[in-house]
Order: sequence, then C-alpha cells, then structure tokens
Amino acid sequence: MDVPLYLRPRVESPLASLLGAAPFLHSLVDALGSPLNVLLPEAVAENARRFRSVYRRHRLAGRVYFAHKANRSSALVRRLAAEDPAAVGVDVASLEELRHALSCGFTGDRIMATGPKDPEFLWLAARVGATVNLDSPGELEQLAGLVRRYGLGRVDALVRLSGFESAAGRGGAGTRLLARRSRFGIPVRDARALVPALERHADAVELTGVAYHLDTTGVEEKVRALEQCVLFMDECRARGLTPRAVDIGGGFGVGYVADAGEWERWTTALSEAVLGGRPPLTWRGHGYGLRNEGGTVRGTAALYPGHRPTAGPGYLDELLSLPAPVLGRPPATLLLEHLHDLYIEPGRSLVDQCGLSLARVLEVRPTGEDSGQYLVRLGMNAGDVSLEEHGVLVDPLLVPRGEPEKAEGGEPEKGDGEPVGVFLAGNLCLEADLITRRLVFLPRLPRTGDLLAFANTAGYAMDFHAHHAQRQPVARTVAVEQEGGSWRWCLDEEYWPITHPGGMSA
Ligand SMILES: *Cc1c(COP(=O)(O)O)cnc(C)c1O
Repeated sequence: MDVPLYLRPRVESPLASLLGAAPFLHSLVDALGSPLNVLLPEAVAENARRFRSVYRRHRLAGRVYFAHKANRSSALVRRLAAEDPAAVGVDVASLEELRHALSCGFTGDRIMATGPKDPEFLWLAARVGATVNLDSPGELEQLAGLVRRYGLGRVDALVRLSGFESAAGRGGAGTRLLARRSRFGIPVRDARALVPALERHADAVELTGVAYHLDTTGVEEKVRALEQCVLFMDECRARGLTPRAVDIGGGFGVGYVADAGEWERWTTALSEAVLGGRPPLTWRGHGYGLRNEGGTVRGTAALYPGHRPTAGPGYLDELLSLPAPVLGRPPATLLLEHLHDLYIEPGRSLVDQCGLSLARVLEVRPTGEDSGQYLVRLGMNAGDVSLEEHGVLVDPLLVPRGEPEKAEGGEPEKGDGEPVGVFLAGNLCLEADLITRRLVFLPRLPRTGDLLAFANTAGYAMDFHAHHAQRQPVARTVAVEQEGGSWRWCLDEEYWPITHPGGMSA
C-alpha cells in the first residue's frame, strides 16, 4: 500500500455543509443524472462583498466586474445583478455572454465588453451603453465607425495594454527585463501612438480608462503594470483626454488545496517519481511537464499552485499595498492621489467556494499488477470537470450512498477499509479520458453508487470544456440554498434572486 498522498480540498461554509448533506446530494443526482453541477448563488455575492471590503480598506472607488467566462450559469449572474449597481458589474467576452448578462438583469452601464470583438458584439455593446475594453487600434477604428454610421451615443472605452516589462533571469549583468507576450491588448510601447487616434475619435469614443489583464500569479508584475497604466494615463491627461479608471483585470487566484504540507509533499514526490526514486504517482508515469534528464529533473510542472497562502481578495489587498517600482508608492496610494477608480475583473476567484460537481461511481476494479490500486469509472468525463485541463490537482470527496461509514471525527471505523489509491476514469471510450492522471487517495475504496464530489469547480472546471462527445449527457446545473436546516434547489435557469412562495430567496 502506498503512503497516502492526499491533496484535500479547501472547503468553507456553506460549501462544507452542502458536502455534508449526502442524502440531499444523492437525491439530486438520482433525479437529474450524473454528472451534476451544484451552485451556491449566495456565495458569489459574499465573495463580491469581500472584494468590496478591500476597496473600502484602501478607500478606493470603482467596480468589481465578474468575468463571465469562468461559468455559464444564469443563477450566478442573476445573483450578482441583484447586488449594488455601483459596486458590481459583469465582464463579457462574447456576443452571447453580453446577451446573457442583459437578460439576467445587468443594465448596459454595468457591463464591460472585453476580448477581441466581432462587429455584432461591438454594435450591441455600444447600443446598450456598455464600456468597451479596446483590444487593438483596429477595434477603436471599428467602434468609432459603428457609432457614427448608426448614430449611437458616445461610447465609454478603456484601452487594454499589454507587453509590460517584467523582471526575469537574474543573470550576472543584473536584472534583465522581458515583456510577457500576449495575444491581447496593445503593447505598452505602442500606446502613445494611439493617442492621436483617440483624439480624432473623441466625439464617438470617450477614453474613460486604461486596462490590463495578466495571466500570471506574479504580484510584482501586476504592480508594475498598474503603475505603467497610471503613467500612461498621466500622458493622456496632458493631451486633454480624461481617463479616470484603471482596470487591472482578473487573476487573483484560488487556493484549492487546504493544507500547504500536503501540496509540498505531493509536488516533492512528483519530482522523486520522475527521477525514478519512487513508484509513479501518475497514470503511465505522466510527469505533468517534468522529465528526467540524466538524473536531473527538467521542465516546469504545468500545475496551478494548488495551495496558495494568499488568493482572491487577499491577493488584491497585497497587490494594492506593495510599493510600485518607479514612483515608490503602493498602487492604492497612486490611485487615491490621482482620484482614479479601480476596476477588477475576477473570474475564478469570484466563484471560489461557489459550487461543486458530482459524479456517480459506475465501476470499481483493480488495475491489476498487484499494485493495490484501483480504477474507478465515473458517470462523467474529463470535459465535465476540467480540473486537470487547468493544472488544478485536488482530491474529490467521497459521498457515500446509504449510511455514512465514518465515525464522528472522520476516522474510518474498523472494517471500513483502508485509504486507497485510485485512478479516476471517465465515461468515454478513449484512453485519454481520465478525470485525473494522478493517483488519487481516498479514505476508503468507493462502491458503485457512491458519489464523488469535486469541490470548488465553479471557476472554469464545471462547464468550460463540457461537450457532447459520444452523446454523453452534459451536466445539468442546479442552484441551491440552505434554509433553516434543510437545502432547497432549483434548476439554474429557474433561479431568480427574489423571494416568492415556493421560490428561493436572496
Ligand atoms: C479570463 C479573464 C479574466 C478573468 O480571469 P480569472 O483568472 O478567472 O480571474 C478577466 N479579464 C479578462 C480580460 C480575461 O480574459
């Protein structure tokens, strides 16, 4: 038997109490099938409030825009639409997301349109008075053209910058600066050249701010980018433009694994296994990007940092507090001095602890080879819970059918079986359809009919990669709410943030 290497999830209330409601979860899957996504709309509103409290602590004004792409749900978007309009907006990255946000109750003035846009998306965004986050000089021309041609009102626009310099490679010659390449936005070195176009189109498009979104966990890099936005805004103001908001995008992160030690032990063991110093931790010795080159581990593990000491609102707090490299003052101070608003676009972190994905255990069998390991086949596939796709490694929780087999305190009772290593396989006839490519340790061997609950999947994991291959069902999504001691549920599309007889309340 391998020593169990757990990566147990961080679960907080109310998600923790939902996970404890085994009969309720089983009745949902019995009725609606496996896989099933369960969302907690109250939790997303609570997260928005936590981000807002960071604003308050730094005395900053501005909005929290939910990056819709993290989850397709209507319940989450409707719940956020019910929050203070001055405090909470939504960031949409496609025509359909824009239509959805409008239908969920967001007025145009609370919507930010990001990403590269097709003409229909641009037109509708301009028509409803959304703020357009301009991705390129061409988009500015296109937007100005649409406004004039169709007699639309002047559109608020941000310019998205990219290609900020970042410290890299501490070589002998000091710190080298590299620009992180991005497909999106306007390289900061080309931004000045955009000013004449902004002036020329000022009757149709009003520059209201400057934006970035960096796909990194590096907080210093983001501080530097924020400062460069403020400096560019100073230049714009000197030219008579009036930008007043800095949009620092998303990427505040989520801590998936509860315990730092478990994360540390697992990643260390992965390196040891890659070097052959211990049995593989993964299906067919998959290395998550690491390889053995003559006895040395090479490559970078393509893993999301599973345990994070600071994430979400705490990360925003840190970002606002670190000194900026040129002006020497923290971003919060720079924003206050300039009277700039702060916009953020959290996706993953705004839906932290907002949901889980359930799958029924269909089959349990030994992998053979006398390894003591098992293959557990689930009523879902890798597209239904794309944690691996995003490099997120975290254990599912066992939700037993029937009587709980565990005593109070979580220790297995005698005869309840031992911790066991399993590979989780999906419902496709495809070798690659593994829910996890690593050996997952569970406190006991699951039985057919048990459920596995993947906690904290609302950000990108539950529906971003879901598909209809082999005509397997795509998960239904339900919204749940605790009322007194019991749980109530409705289909995601039936959820509205109002109280009415038989309905759920906000
Ligand atoms: C994806 C995206 C976000 C959200 O990023 P998270 O990492 O989920 O917070 C925000 N803004 C833009 C422009 C994005 O593309």
